[in-house]
Formats: sequence, C-alpha cells, structure tokens
Amino acid sequence: MSLAIDVHGLNKSFGDKHVVQDVELKLEEGRICGFLGPNGSGKTTTLRMLCGLLTPDSGEGQCLGFDLIGEAAAIKRRTGYMTQKFSLYEDLTIEENLQFTARVYGLDRRRERVDQALERLGLAQRRKQLAGALSGGWKQRLALATTTLHEPKLLLLDEPTAGVDPKARRGFWDEIHALSAQGLTVLVSTHYMDEAERCHEIAYISYGKLIARGTAEEVVARSHLVTLRGEGAGVDRLAKEIGARPGVEMAAPFGAALHVSGQDREALEAAIAPWRREPYRWTPVEPTLEDVFIHLMNRSEDNFQ
Ligand code: ADP
Repeated sequence: MSLAIDVHGLNKSFGDKHVVQDVELKLEEGRICGFLGPNGSGKTTTLRMLCGLLTPDSGEGQCLGFDLIGEAAAIKRRTGYMTQKFSLYEDLTIEENLQFTARVYGLDRRRERVDQALERLGLAQRRKQLAGALSGGWKQRLALATTTLHEPKLLLLDEPTAGVDPKARRGFWDEIHALSAQGLTVLVSTHYMDEAERCHEIAYISYGKLIARGTAEEVVARSHLVTLRGEGAGVDRLAKEIGARPGVEMAAPFGAALHVSGQDREALEAAIAPWRREPYRWTPVEPTLEDVFIHLMNRSEDNFQ
C-alpha cells in the first residue's frame, strides 16, 4: 500500500483562532476521499496546507512521498488545486484557456496536452467557442481539465461543484472517477450527500478536528445512531414536538415521512410512544449519511460549548 497523503499533528491558527487542530490524514494512492464538515471548520485551510500553499504551525508528514514542510515546492508541482472560484478567461476560447494555462506553467508538449484535454472533455469540436458561453457544468469541467493539464498525482478540489445542477455534477464526478482509475488521488470537499456517497471514503472535520473517517458504511456504523421512520397522514408535522423530547437528537421530515434519530434506542422508543398508534407506523431504518453528519455536527457543537 502506498500512501499519497500521510500527515499527522497538523495545526494552524489565524490570530487566536485555532482553525486546524491536530489533524491526521492518511490516504492511499488512487483513492477518492470526500472532505466534509460545516462551513468554517478548516477544510480549505487543510487543503492549502497539504498542497504547500500554506505552512502549518506544527505537524509533519508527507504528500506524494515528499516532506510536507521541507519539500513543499515538489508537492506543489505534482498537485492540482481547484477552488470553487476557479478562474477561466471568459473572453478566450476553450482552447485558448487550455493553451494559456499550459504556457503560464511552462509545460512541455503543449499542443499534445491541449488536444488530449479537448478530446477527453469531448470539446474538440467546440474548441473555438468562447469559454464564457459554456454552461456552469461545462465551465467546471474545463476548469478541471486546466487543473490536470500538468498531469498531477494528487488532486485537491475545494467545493468544485457548488451551485452546479445534478446532471452536470454527475458528469464532473464521472471524470473524477476516470482520473482516479488512472491512479490520481483525490481529496474533495463538498456539502452534497450524493457526492459524499460517490467517494471511496470520507473524512469529516468540525471545529478544526477530524472526527470521523472511513468508508460511508463505516462512518454510519460507528455513529451508533438509531433512526426510526414514521409514516402515516400528518406524521411529518410532528417534527417539532417529537424533536423536543428527551433522547431525540433530530426529527426531520423526509417527504411525507419523518426520520427520528438518537443514540439511545430506548429513549427514542419512549419519545415516540405517544404516537405509536393509528394512523402512524414506525419502522427502524438505516440512518442516512446526512443523519450521521447532522448528528456529528450537533455533537461537536455540544463539545464546543
Ligand atoms: P472551511 O473550508 O471548512 O469552510 P476554512 O478553512 O476556510 O473552513 O476556515 C476555517 C476558519 O479559519 C474560518 O473561521 C475562517 O474564517 C478562518 N480563516 C481562514 N483563512 C484565514 C485567513 N487567511 N486569515 C484569518 N482567518 C482565516
């Protein structure tokens, strides 16, 4: 097993704000890891430390076999970093955007790289079209193509699909999986549950601390969360009342159904007991990843307070 990311004890403060705290992260080559957590929890800061853009206050380890601190320049050269606010030149054509990036980075085999990227994107016929005329989803894919033009070994993506429609996000993710199949390692931050489920594994960070790690199934199982699904006319309108009862961590409507979750099965049963009657029906279900993330978020808020 070869690790593309192998870091531990990462810390970063801005002023008196300790935004990344003792983060340890190991990620095998070729894997796609989703990086999740509430806004402001330290995802961007961690990504920037991993690719050598930001120096940690303390911590050590390796990315792509290079020392995180001493060989940051070598890591940077082999990494692709794409943020939500990527910049394409809207008044240049698709092809010119790729050529421009290739030139700025002083890449060799420029024509070949650009042609390959266009083929891969399926935009070879539209190479002369202005980038500004592309839809949001295609802009994102073009940005990904420019990010990978130098054939990086590690891809760090910071909310790359925020605000993009589901079909375009799916296309973007197909491309991420194709890149991973070629051996590229991907760490991608996202708030979308369907995207988290498309990752080989996930890392969940809250208030600067990494609090869950593993495959989606492992993270769900380790949460020890119990979820009961209520059905029957009007059950979704009980969310507030049931949510306020002891032992209930959350009660959320899912369409016409209601999901009630907590860690203590008995307390949960007691909480819904008054509604264990017609027209309501209750069945235990596997918690969703979203249930687990909200649970993790609530728990770390409690610890923080
Ligand atoms: P996330 O990506 O999870 O939303 P960030 O890493 O962007 O979180 O931010 C974590 C915290 O660090 C936030 O409170 C943010 O305001 C703060 N922060 C990030 N960068 C800076 C900076 N350059 N100077 C001061 N504070 C910063």
